[in-house]
Amino acid sequence: MSYTPKPKSHTEQQVTEGLLGVLESIAKLLMWAGLAASLISLSFLVYYVVLFSGTAAADKTAAQGYIELFRKVLTGGLLAFYIGSAYLFWGEGWMEIVQILSALACYTAPIYFPMILPSSDTGVALVATIGMQHAGLGAGIVAAGVLLMDVILKVQTRLKQGIKADQLKYGKGIKEETDRKNVFMGKCWQLPYCRKFVRERCPIYHAKRTCWKEKVGCMCEEEVIKGAMENRAIPKDAVAAARYIPQNNKITLLQKMERCRQCVIYNEHQKHKYRAALPCVLIGFIAIIGLLWVPLNLVMHGVVGEIQKGIEKATMAGNSSTVQVPDWAQQVMLGCICLIFFAYALKLLEFLIFKLKV
Ligand code: SF4
Ligand code: SF4
Repeated sequence: MSYTPKPKSHTEQQVTEGLLGVLESIAKLLMWAGLAASLISLSFLVYYVVLFSGTAAADKTAAQGYIELFRKVLTGGLLAFYIGSAYLFWGEGWMEIVQILSALACYTAPIYFPMILPSSDTGVALVATIGMQHAGLGAGIVAAGVLLMDVILKVQTRLKQGIKADQLKYGKGIKEETDRKNVFMGKCWQLPYCRKFVRERCPIYHAKRTCWKEKVGCMCEEEVIKGAMENRAIPKDAVAAARYIPQNNKITLLQKMERCRQCVIYNEHQKHKYRAALPCVLIGFIAIIGLLWVPLNLVMHGVVGEIQKGIEKATMAGNSSTVQVPDWAQQVMLGCICLIFFAYALKLLEFLIFKLKV
């Protein structure tokens, strides 16, 4: 077993920590200032919508100049809020949902405002709702980018590292062997952490078995290591070699299984499982969404219709509102919901393979 040296000196560590501290402060400033700017500018835009609803004569007022100003502040505020919150809460599912939903809420303002205020679909009021839509579009692109980047980085990290090294009982500091093999879904002796010196005297290797199935191996059973240290001869015949596989009756099967869950060798195997499962999840998800797209669209229409009825009831507008959420907007919303579900499907896969170790 060889160990890696400490990666950073004390000074380097201090510089890195200092830099991270500065970045965190900047992110906090961006997040809170962005949130404040977004709320203030949004309040003004909503105020203009209410104030100018049904007053087409006021089209040329100075309010249009203010609307343009607050649209810019809202766009900048949302971008600052998204960038700051993405840095501070990277990988948190709720942060991505907040970003997507707030962008959607701004983007669909010209659709739902006329439902609440029937006369807000003309004049300056309409300009204000379109200002919100433009701000929502720019912010939505950033939010979708953050979500996609998070998904891609998570998949890349899992493919490279599997599970964090410090979570492994035997794994911290262990280097991969120079004669490493990495056979996809291979047995323990076909994976990078099988050490040549031990392998040559290992009964599991000569029996062509797999240590995690036998529940004993070079990372957990001293007899295997002792055999290698003492240069104990193991028959080359698989059946004869199997008789040399040590038995450990001092601990229970559950304890042995837990031991494997903490082991680098087994976790390397889990990484392979993840690599195998990932395309299946992706293809399966696309296939399910493809098959269910029409019924999901119908559900979406139903939900949007119910929300519209609810708003009409709450605002006592009766059936006077003729504004409908366009089909394309409903499909965009459905696409965003599917993207969020896909992110959660990946989280579930990670949980099953890297936490539960199924
Ligand atoms: S138990 Fe260890 S040494 Fe033996 S074959 Fe498996 S990985 Fe190699
Ligand atoms: S803990 Fe499990 S995976 Fe690791 S060497 Fe032992 S039997 Fe193999």
